[in-house]
Amino acid sequence: MLFQKKPGRHVVIVGNGIAGVSCARALRRRDKQARITLVSGEGPHFFSRPALMYIYMGHLTYEGTKPYEDWWWQKQRIGLRQAWVTHIDTQKKWLSFAGEAGGLGYDQLVLATGSKPNKFGWPGQNLERVQGLYSLQDLQTLEAVSHEIQHGVIVGGGLIGIELAEMLHARGKKVTILSREQSYWDNALPREESLMVSDVIAESGITLHSGTELKEIVDDGQGRACGVVTGTGEKIACEFVGLTAGVSPNLSALKGSEIPTGRGVLVDFSFRSSVEDVFAIGDCAEIVTPEGQRNRIEQLWYTGQMHGEVLADVLCGDDRTYDRGIWFNSAKFLDLEWHTYGEVPPAGFPVRPGLRQVYWQAADKRHAFRLVLAGDAVVGVNAMGIRYRHKVCERWIAEKRSAEYVLNNLKEGNFDPEFYHRYEGAIVSSLRAQVAQAGGQA
Ligand SMILES: Cc1cc2nc3c(=O)[nH]c(=O)nc-3n(C[C@H](O)[C@H](O)[C@H](O)COP(=O)(O)OP(=O)(O)OC[C@H]3O[C@@H](n4cnc5c(N)ncnc54)[C@H](O)[C@@H]3O)c2cc1C
Repeated sequence: MLFQKKPGRHVVIVGNGIAGVSCARALRRRDKQARITLVSGEGPHFFSRPALMYIYMGHLTYEGTKPYEDWWWQKQRIGLRQAWVTHIDTQKKWLSFAGEAGGLGYDQLVLATGSKPNKFGWPGQNLERVQGLYSLQDLQTLEAVSHEIQHGVIVGGGLIGIELAEMLHARGKKVTILSREQSYWDNALPREESLMVSDVIAESGITLHSGTELKEIVDDGQGRACGVVTGTGEKIACEFVGLTAGVSPNLSALKGSEIPTGRGVLVDFSFRSSVEDVFAIGDCAEIVTPEGQRNRIEQLWYTGQMHGEVLADVLCGDDRTYDRGIWFNSAKFLDLEWHTYGEVPPAGFPVRPGLRQVYWQAADKRHAFRLVLAGDAVVGVNAMGIRYRHKVCERWIAEKRSAEYVLNNLKEGNFDPEFYHRYEGAIVSSLRAQVAQAGGQA
């Protein structure tokens, strides 16, 4: 079904993160008449969530994380409202806010409410000095208790866990990470890369307890955390517990509404829910896939941006569906950069039949390069400590290039010519030999 653009319609977007803001911007570009309102309880202005850690570490100010000046919104005629949505009446098309008698009507509603840190019902999880790292409010509460922290325990060894560990470490705190996995984030990284990051963590002075679960958080008798007990009964004294065991869609605005949810807000590939004029994008959306496949929840910055831009077209009447293209992710584990493209099987899961992998690692254990092959075609690229050009890696995979082609053209993909020649020869000769040994052509 295509939508009619009603002149002067009111599009209300709940959530002013990357998904909501990308939608608002793209919609304004195409529809000069729509009234657009961005609502968020977190703060009136869009800021870069991945930069939260740099505010704490003093590398950036909060103001410096805002991609747009405060005056820009008025110039774009995008209304901003700081409020928490507590109820959505989809019959009356009306939003209610916490602590306000009034509310706000909409013609079309976009839910872009992001995620919230997981809590798995651990005893003590709601004590003071126990928190996740997601919002500006989280940063404020962390800042408020920082002077009390000598030892912080971080529960969950994913991307946000290592950031929180780095933040505390940068302020001279002792830090311990508890991770259920056998080595760092092995449900996302291949074994060798996971061990490499574990090694980087150990070298930094941060303690990583792999294969360790949280059992409970101990109360100091005054409602504050003073330690944790692990699954093996070990007691670790600490003054702060960071909960970074993943995030889930934030559905707090939808309580009591008729909008169908699963793990997230259920939408199709055009981000439409089954309720007329209600849409969802970004981390909070659960894209319903054809039968037999797992629904998709995407919790990344660039996918949030893509969702928002596609939905703006849909709201303008285009018959558009979302296609993420080739998977991409990147991160920095302390000072070790990671970039991944396409299909790279993590250590913690069985490898799809038919895939083979060739891998090179420098003797310093800080640089690595992996190709994943299906038959002759490269389907995945994983790089640690060496940066390759996004567009080039994507093209190699999209064009189903052979390992031979990639190795012959490695230079084209390299991002840092200064470092390239240090590793190029070793990468090419090692991977060529491995491909040949496995019976391929290179
Ligand atoms: C510390 C950290 C580091 C990260 N680093 C990276 C990275 O390096 N690369 C990457 O790709 N991704 C990263 N991410 C993930 C990325 O930030 C998210 O995928 C992205 O911000 C999600 O965007 P969004 O617009 O869907 O939601 P959000 O950015 O979460 O915005 C949603 C907004 O809606 C508001 N909201 C929710 N419920 C209500 C309500 N009831 N009423 C009013 N407002 C409400 C929230 O308060 C929030 O302001 C990181 C995340 C964190 C927390």
